[in-house]
Amino acid sequence: MLMLPDDFHPAILPPTAIAESPAWWFILANGQLLVRPGDEGLELPLASIWPFAKWPTARRLYLGTLWGQPCYAVETATGEPPPGWTFESLRGLWTRMDEERLGVAGQALQLIEWDRNHQFCGQCGTATQPRADERARRCPACELIAYPRLSPVVMVRVVHAGRILLARAPRFAAGVYSVLAGFVEAGETLEQAIHREVAEEVGIQVQNLRYFASQSWPFPHSLMMAFTADYAGGQLQADGQEIVDARWFTPDEMPGLPSPMSMAWRLIQDYLTPHDGRSSRAEGEGRGSFAS
Ligand SMILES: [Zn+2]
Repeated sequence: MLMLPDDFHPAILPPTAIAESPAWWFILANGQLLVRPGDEGLELPLASIWPFAKWPTARRLYLGTLWGQPCYAVETATGEPPPGWTFESLRGLWTRMDEERLGVAGQALQLIEWDRNHQFCGQCGTATQPRADERARRCPACELIAYPRLSPVVMVRVVHAGRILLARAPRFAAGVYSVLAGFVEAGETLEQAIHREVAEEVGIQVQNLRYFASQSWPFPHSLMMAFTADYAGGQLQADGQEIVDARWFTPDEMPGLPSPMSMAWRLIQDYLTPHDGRSSRAEGEGRGSFAS
């Protein structure tokens, strides 16, 4: 589950004096995080001041504190890491780094990307300036304010007669199927977006929408909002563009599934896991192989 940990306290302005506890440096290049193998798993740079004095940085943002220690997000000017360190994708770090620091790394990734893409005003082209009282960049000429961008995505698990609807997008790894998902469009409610996406992608109608859970997905700035639903009518037919195949699967015939890091995986595992008050045929978690 990729999320900010409870022990993380966001802030805009860094400490004015060098803090007693050293800071964690979430150093990013090309969307990847700088890490190093250590005695207790993967390490992040830990130092009171920027630890690589000769390494130029493109931007630096203070994020707040995790377990009382300051956290900085930095984008380096070159992607060449110091000896002993490597850049790795956040997806590749899943289960190899604790969820707390990975959650903060997800925010670092989104904010660095946003900061890079909002150096100039989208309205008049003037160079923007960071605000001290909120996470935003303001244009000094026309006062337009740019906030970090979030793109809402709805995801829905549709079930019918003991089977779950899973579908393949062209970009998925071979053999992998997942629940349906799509971006919310301007003016839509989440419910409208689900009805539209399901009808567009596989040609059916759904009913009994229920909220399930949400998750940050910083690739590059999505907020996944998951729902469950029941089939209501229509003939299953993949649109051939966004979805190349869609099928109803019983729990005993599950295909390859998306990464356990994803909201989709949780939504599918929840279906496969027996719940009180609902008969289920699955023996527990971990059904189906996964590929990311
Ligand atoms: Zn402006």
